[in-house]
Amino acid sequence: MNYKRFLFAILILLIIVSGIYFIGRETPNNSVSNPEPNNSEVTKSEGSEFLMDTLVRVRIHDENSEQVLEEVLNKLSYLENIFSKTIEDSDINKINSNAGVKPVEVNEETYKLLEEANRFSEITGGVFDPTIGPLVSLWGIGTEDEKIPTEAKIKETLQKINYKKIKFQEDNKIFLSEEGMSLDLGAIAKGYAADYIINYLNEKDVDSAFINMGGNVSVHRDKVDGSLWNIGIQDPVRSRGNIIAAVEGEDISVVTSGNYERYFIEDGVRYHHIINPETGYPARKGIISATVISNNSSYADALSTSFYILGVEKSFQIAKGMEDVNIVLITKDDKAYVSEELKGQITFTVDDLEIIYR
Ligand code: AMP
Ligand code: MG
Repeated sequence: MNYKRFLFAILILLIIVSGIYFIGRETPNNSVSNPEPNNSEVTKSEGSEFLMDTLVRVRIHDENSEQVLEEVLNKLSYLENIFSKTIEDSDINKINSNAGVKPVEVNEETYKLLEEANRFSEITGGVFDPTIGPLVSLWGIGTEDEKIPTEAKIKETLQKINYKKIKFQEDNKIFLSEEGMSLDLGAIAKGYAADYIINYLNEKDVDSAFINMGGNVSVHRDKVDGSLWNIGIQDPVRSRGNIIAAVEGEDISVVTSGNYERYFIEDGVRYHHIINPETGYPARKGIISATVISNNSSYADALSTSFYILGVEKSFQIAKGMEDVNIVLITKDDKAYVSEELKGQITFTVDDLEIIYR
């Protein structure tokens, strides 16, 4: 297709449509003509793809929106190819299959992601642990093999989990120092990827963008009309698409970890995918959904998973000690514990929740 001609046609169409719009519009309160900002050169492209185990949806507003969108999807698929646990020649797979054998040279991005992950393990006292792989496989939640393992097997597997055994070596080499260890970056990779994309959008000076990676939302700047984005937080007890609250903002990331994402129920007990590395069992500290709002999506992703495990008190302790980390924790007794910094920025859309700012 002749790209320039296509753009020209769109431009003409926009001029005609906006002409009709302005003629047809009544302006009773506006006797002086007050022209709207001229956005006629701004275009929009939307795309979605199944990446990183989730449906990723991207919306770009920019004069080069089509190219930007294509580049964004390419970059996401590049990251998936190195971070995935299931893609055969990914960095993570190479590290895992060489556990206890030898160090593996990885992409710079993988090295950086692992350094970042380790930082969150330190911050959360080991509750966030990227070496959780063996426990994730043992439970198999969300796979055909999901089951409640025996106590003995859980105890044995716990021996394999310890982020301190990830060895960072020169020349981007990573070594898992014990056989049977394995990395799983499911709790942070999407956040890292979102930051990577936002970085690119900033570099390219892209007008505006919305990225939704299944519960991880990041927005670049504000909306093209100058208003703020509204980002919904999924209601943990109702079906997908029903929100519990909406958060307003620009240049923010809103990430939720919930027990409704992947789980099975046996004898009335819900076994979900967020595992407490202290017990070896799915976390059970009264929280059913933990949301973190931050400018940085890696923070939001890693911490929302961690706060789910840590419970209300410890989560607030950590969040209060960090800059630009605000939280919304929903507990199973229908309470929402909310950072007071969010007052005015968050609107709850259900009335059966007790809202506690702190
Ligand atoms: P998220 O949806 O971001 O909360 O991440 C959940 C995913 O992270 C799970 O599906 C596991 O792959 C992984 N995971 C589970 N428990 C932990 C943990 N304690 N630390 C780090 N990653 C975990
Ligand atoms: Mg997470």
